[in-house]
Amino acid sequence: MGIVYPTAEILSAWGIAMPSNRGRVISRQKCRICGTQGKYQIKDMGGIRVLMCACCGRFPANIFAIEIQWQKRLHRITHDQAGRKFANLQETETALGLIRQQIQRKEFYPEEWKSARSNKYLWQNYLQEYLKREAARLLPHDRKGTYDRKVSHSKHMTWFNGKNIKEIRTAQIRDYAALPCLSLCLADKTISDLMGELRHIFRDAFEREDIKKLPIFPTIEVPEREIRWYSSKEQAAMLEKIPEKHLPIFTFLSIYGMRPGEACALMTDKVDRAKGVFHLTRTLGRSRQIQDKTKTKKADAMPIVDWFDSYLEALPPSLVPLPVFQNPEANPGKNPLKHYKLDALTKIFKKAIKEAGLPGITLHEATRSSLAMQLYHEKGHDIEAVRAVLRHRNLAHTGRYAQADTQKVRSILSGNHNR
Ligand SMILES: [Zn+2]
Repeated sequence: MGIVYPTAEILSAWGIAMPSNRGRVISRQKCRICGTQGKYQIKDMGGIRVLMCACCGRFPANIFAIEIQWQKRLHRITHDQAGRKFANLQETETALGLIRQQIQRKEFYPEEWKSARSNKYLWQNYLQEYLKREAARLLPHDRKGTYDRKVSHSKHMTWFNGKNIKEIRTAQIRDYAALPCLSLCLADKTISDLMGELRHIFRDAFEREDIKKLPIFPTIEVPEREIRWYSSKEQAAMLEKIPEKHLPIFTFLSIYGMRPGEACALMTDKVDRAKGVFHLTRTLGRSRQIQDKTKTKKADAMPIVDWFDSYLEALPPSLVPLPVFQNPEANPGKNPLKHYKLDALTKIFKKAIKEAGLPGITLHEATRSSLAMQLYHEKGHDIEAVRAVLRHRNLAHTGRYAQADTQKVRSILSGNHNR
């Protein structure tokens, strides 16, 4: 009576997987000695296994491939999952073992075993495809700035090159976040943005089912910068040093707390004096182009208040829309409508605050942030009122202005601070 072996089904019921022997290592090379093509067998040469020409037994192959039948197709694999050519027999056999495991676990994807150039899951290739998708998503909606930031972030991600995105786990993300070169050459805020972008890439990959599991991303703490602002007195001192011809736009920025780009882009077609409102539908981007949306994407109606109404009344009538604030020093050749540009505004502003002996802050801080701080800390309005004036969509952003150091505010208001 012979021995009865358990069947594969029984073994698998016991939790023992039968080793699969599907697939084999081959070479399609032509033997340099006898000229036979692609007939090789594995030989043990004193402990070293080589793929030897089966015909003459004297030529060892140095180009390797795996042939494996899978889903009714014969697949020939010549590269590992990092896109590198198999360098020797050992590597090829290891890869074959891995492929057998993947098939058993139903995790075998032949497209992952391609050359670096054609493996779309390799980080550098995947990132290029991701950026193409993001370009198609963002560029038609005037979001070139966002797209450009993504491109510049992607340049700090070369550490992942050569890795298959399916194999990048939380551990690699942590190693990357802890790289000394990141913290040496980038600000905390930039690293935090970079991690945010990386998380976005992986979340996108997860939703597309390109990866099975979403790695966990570390949070980078960014200390909130102290809000710098001018009191009403300081702001008045600043306006005193602005040359008369440039005063309207600076007065407007101080009263309304517009983003400077919005003030530059405001044109007469968006002003309705009869109804007493104007609409912010455009802004001047960093690329110096007038864009048709403000940061909040909503066209906000703003009331025309006393000073602005008299300013508008004094504007010469025009049949075509003109910038509400025109820069008399603009170069008519390059800028026929005489829009103020952000660079020009900043230059005038810096000169004025230097002459006034005021602390150096940005134009945005001197107008928009200052208006918020004055409303809240000097005039006693609540955060909701500040939000309404600044047109923030939610209070979280506005809340920053309420958290400012009250001691400092007190000293500024009592006028006995030294800076
Ligand atoms: Zn041979």
